[in-house]
Amino acid sequence: MKPHFDQNKIDSVKSLILNSKRIVITTHYKPDGDALGSSLGLWAYLKSLNLHVDVVLPSEFPNFLKWMHGSDETIDFSKTPQEVSELINQADLLFCLDFNDPTRTEGMSNLLINSTAKKIMIDHHLAPKEFCDYAFSFPSIGSTCELIVHFIEALDGISLITMDSAACLYAGIMTDTGSFRFSSVTAETHRVVGILLNTGMRNDFVHEAVYDTSSEDRLRFLGHVLLNNMFVLNEHKAVYFQCTKDDMKRFNHQSGDLEGIVNYGLSIDGIKMAVLFSERDGIIKISFRSKGDYSVKDLAEKHFEGGGHKNAAGGKSHLTLDETIQKFKTILKENHHA
Ligand code: 5GP
Ligand code: MN
Repeated sequence: MKPHFDQNKIDSVKSLILNSKRIVITTHYKPDGDALGSSLGLWAYLKSLNLHVDVVLPSEFPNFLKWMHGSDETIDFSKTPQEVSELINQADLLFCLDFNDPTRTEGMSNLLINSTAKKIMIDHHLAPKEFCDYAFSFPSIGSTCELIVHFIEALDGISLITMDSAACLYAGIMTDTGSFRFSSVTAETHRVVGILLNTGMRNDFVHEAVYDTSSEDRLRFLGHVLLNNMFVLNEHKAVYFQCTKDDMKRFNHQSGDLEGIVNYGLSIDGIKMAVLFSERDGIIKISFRSKGDYSVKDLAEKHFEGGGHKNAAGGKSHLTLDETIQKFKTILKENHHA
């Protein structure tokens, strides 16, 4: 399905963009392929219009995205908060990509809320909060990167998409659709991918850069988690993984190493839900994935201070790892999820 962009809204946004002096693009905490890809894809497009534009990130992005063109020019709030706060305060236009609620930027939240810049949201998460002047929110679309291509198309800018920025946008579509396998993928998604491939970008390089650049430690870590830390709850068609700080230390854990582990749970025949609990500083981070109708978004929202999409969500817990897992099991029992 093609998202419908209201022409009046596009006209207003176009003139806002062309009249802006300083644009800032930002995205959610712990940026993933879609968050960084959409930010850099839009960044390259706006730069090609000779506009002044910066990408600021609430926190570090994983190593397997370092190849993205422009990633070395992004500014990380967790490292240089003063610089980011000045950029946001000076901006007259602020793009909020791949998130629906300012709190998803963690420490940058108040900066965004208090900024006097015009704000434009482009996002695909359900139930967006009203904190932007213009919101392009399409929860049925598989990735923000796909939306960015539609957005650039609505602004008549397709010919300005370069090979390098196409690779960033392709990467976000690829990662947010599980390599084009989820039900969110449509003929439109493939048409957009066609536009990107026509720039001459190399899809095989992107797959390799994202999926075939593990360290040996990371692969052994995956082996350890699958062998020793995976628990199958057949009665609930669920699988959970646990990951302690000691596990991470033992395998020399790097940012991004846990990415994708949770999905292995869904590859067991009959399993409909997979959950990863990982121990962080003072909290337990939880990743939820599901297949079909079971909404992990509701589970994350209701019980684990989180949210996300129906089939991919996240949350956290302030209990210990064991207590968190106990709580999860109790919820499953009470909901009779099967
Ligand atoms: P992941 O498991 O990859 O960290 O997150 C999967 C999805 O869940 C993300 O795309 C994001 O939409 C959502 N998500 C992850 N963590 C949180 C959280 O703490 N709060 C909310 N609202 N959503 C989250
Ligand atoms: Mn996304």
